[in-house]
Amino acid sequence: MRDTIQLSEKEIVCIVCPNGCRIKCTPNGSEYSFSGNKCKRGIAYVEAELTRPMRSLTSSVKTVFSNAPVVSVRTDGEIEKSRIQDVLSALGKVTLDHPVKMGDVIIPNVCNTGVNMICTSNRLARH
Ligand code: SF4
Repeated sequence: MRDTIQLSEKEIVCIVCPNGCRIKCTPNGSEYSFSGNKCKRGIAYVEAELTRPMRSLTSSVKTVFSNAPVVSVRTDGEIEKSRIQDVLSALGKVTLDHPVKMGDVIIPNVCNTGVNMICTSNRLARH
């Protein structure tokens, strides 16, 4: 016997451009059909959202320096949304004890995502 997955109707707001189209995803057999998108980039976006949603992540890490106890960081690419908690846990274990500047890699290949966490601040830059 073959398992079937019941798809449900969804509405996803496309964030690819400022139009913010509300794209209706209607089950059509084992796939979805889409409506409400003004262009085909919206279809690519909702297909990715339905199967493997990706996100950029911004956060901060602790430092040992009293004049800058935290510095801001971000991913230099997108990671799977399901990995965000793993990455936040990894960031929570970091305490910087040396100067860093904007663009410096704080954690290379964070959690084996293929993406680096980079510094987005010059608060800890050596002058
Ligand atoms: S569907 Fe096209 S026009 Fe609409 S928000 Fe997405 S990218 Fe913009």
